[in-house]
Amino acid sequence: MEIDAAREVRTTCPYCGVGCGVLAKIAADGQVSVRGDPDHPANFGRLCSKGSALAETIDLDGRLLHPQIHDRPAGWNEALDLVASTFQHTIAEHGPDAVAFYVSGQLLTEDYYLANKLMKGFIGSANIDTNSRLCMASSVAGHRRAFGSDTVPGTYEDLELADLIVLVGSNLAWCHPVLYQRIAAAREKRPEMKIVLVDPRRTMTSDIADMHLAIAPDGDVALFTGLLAWLGQYNALDPAYITAHTAGFGQALFAASTLDLAGVAAATGLSEDELSRFYSLFARTEKTVTVYSQGVNQSSQGTDKVNAIINCHLATGRIGKPGAGPFSVTGQPNAMGGREVGGMANMLAAHMEIENPGHRERVQRFWKAPAIAGKPGLKAVEMFKAVADGRIKAMWIMATNPVDSMPDAGAVEAAIKACPFVVVSDVLAKTDTIRHAHVGLPATAWGEKDGTVTNSERRISRQRAFLPAPGEARPDWWIIAEVARRMGFGEAFARESAAGIFAEHAALSGFENDGERDFDIGAYAAIDVEDYEGLAPFHWPAPSPGTPLRPAERGGHARRQSENDVQADPQPRKNTQSGHAPITTRFFADGNFYTPDRKARFIALRPTVETRITAAFPLVLNTGRIRDHWHTMTRTGKSPRLSQHIAEPFVEIHPEDAQRYGIGDADIARVWTPRGEVLVRVLVTTRQRPGSLFAPMHWTDQFAARGRLDTLTASLADPVSGQPALKHVAARIEKF
Ligand code: SF4
Repeated sequence: MEIDAAREVRTTCPYCGVGCGVLAKIAADGQVSVRGDPDHPANFGRLCSKGSALAETIDLDGRLLHPQIHDRPAGWNEALDLVASTFQHTIAEHGPDAVAFYVSGQLLTEDYYLANKLMKGFIGSANIDTNSRLCMASSVAGHRRAFGSDTVPGTYEDLELADLIVLVGSNLAWCHPVLYQRIAAAREKRPEMKIVLVDPRRTMTSDIADMHLAIAPDGDVALFTGLLAWLGQYNALDPAYITAHTAGFGQALFAASTLDLAGVAAATGLSEDELSRFYSLFARTEKTVTVYSQGVNQSSQGTDKVNAIINCHLATGRIGKPGAGPFSVTGQPNAMGGREVGGMANMLAAHMEIENPGHRERVQRFWKAPAIAGKPGLKAVEMFKAVADGRIKAMWIMATNPVDSMPDAGAVEAAIKACPFVVVSDVLAKTDTIRHAHVGLPATAWGEKDGTVTNSERRISRQRAFLPAPGEARPDWWIIAEVARRMGFGEAFARESAAGIFAEHAALSGFENDGERDFDIGAYAAIDVEDYEGLAPFHWPAPSPGTPLRPAERGGHARRQSENDVQADPQPRKNTQSGHAPITTRFFADGNFYTPDRKARFIALRPTVETRITAAFPLVLNTGRIRDHWHTMTRTGKSPRLSQHIAEPFVEIHPEDAQRYGIGDADIARVWTPRGEVLVRVLVTTRQRPGSLFAPMHWTDQFAARGRLDTLTASLADPVSGQPALKHVAARIEKF
């Protein structure tokens, strides 16, 4: 590609689900610089430390630049032929369920779309799952149970409009910093805004909180079912809303009422006074947004936690209204885009359902596909177990590093090592996963590839290339299409650009979708390469200005409210990319949901307290992220500036526990679980709850000897969503 040194390129940050707009520029001497895009409606020019350091992470050190077979360089044709023929032979001999793709929330939507299409429509299996399973699958499952669709009801503006923000299991200050900054700025303008943090740890986010509820690990279902009972007891419900727009309230309230305040206190570790103050604040504050993240999702009760929260919003009619609603924030830059294209084992493209025969028939007809997966495939944890026991004999891992990031990572590594055929497409030559690959395929990285991502508020933004592809690296969608072509599916994979794939994806979203489903960007089906290049960030399902209206707006049920219906800001900000005010949409403004009777569902929940600790492993280990590193540090680990914030892996422990185990601040400790051990520096702090430890997930053996944290975590998963309980594993600690 031609590099235009004079031009700033509008693109999107590749890290968290906030989805900040970035302006990237190459100087005449080749130096890249980045700054926040002042016109992007997610960040309005702000960037956090990770986003600001993007230019320090794009050098070619350690890059995989050529295809390789068993560690020897190979040409593209040889490598692609080997991948296609091995998958074909495996399918012919053992059936389509003997192969699997494990993909990533780092993929762009266009890559994700083609991988899903190849597996579900052409191979005929649903064995495609994603590392987003580790991030937000419980939110997806909770949304579908309550709303009949995986719909995030609110927008970032709702956080600024709220009078009360309840942050549950979310260290927003470090994990979604720009969203945190937006809340802090709104609170500066409206000091009456209240913020409650529900988190076992007193994280940096507590600095902004009026109340910190240091809840016991996995106490969230009890907390929110207790809240539902309280709302019923103190007449703080919205009976008209419940009657008109919901079903199942009576059973949910009955189940919630089995636990009195003392029972909630026992289950949550909070005092009755703390509970009463929180419940009464929630009850009297109409404009309440409950924001939740991995502390809710990464649990064996994750889906129930999500529904416990949603129940409280349905019971008070606080959903689909300005400044009110449950709001899940995603960890990864394109977890939401993956959801849109069905990049999970239990979903179909365009938010259609794999269990629905009508949806399967529709997608198959649209794709003109020879087959369509007839049942959900294996979710991430089950998938690697199937690799381990030999049911999966050929696997393609794209843009992710499961040997370090999956729970019980040691077992996952053993499974991958034993798999007869493993393909890894990645940007790096030496991850802990690619070293076990039979075939390594060089993919283009951020800054070198074109496509779209969708952030936590369902805003679709462009990632744009501003650097040439190095060596023989190719976009993931190109690699997938080439393998599909060699497997005999060439006609259906003949798209020659990301723009063409996006147009097909948009067309499928609008195909026979007369307001039946939430996801509809069909207005973009006719987009050409030039328009795609200039595509401004937009919320789905809203059309960009000037595009034709879709069926719901032509007389289908009204289902959303635009930002322009509420004065979120006295001076609406202009989106200078399009020349129009940004359109934001809020779902369920009219109380119509995507269930057959259009009513939302309450889920009856009875809190159970699971104790995994034992005499041998008497502590709970909680895992999470730090401010300046991302995932397994393959990019952020390149920036000395980012490594200055926290230079080494650590474990937080409460002073009482430190004393009990004879451990001092800055000691090296051995942290054990039944699956493994790590050596980490000790940080003694009252920010930590007694009985609990916290350690960050980022470091691998590449960065710290014996620091691979996910070798400690368990493969226990939520029974509904399949999301692993990465936040809660029994552990012990001793001085090293
Ligand atoms: Fe990137 Fe998230 Fe930081 Fe925004 S908040 S700059 S998307 S890491």
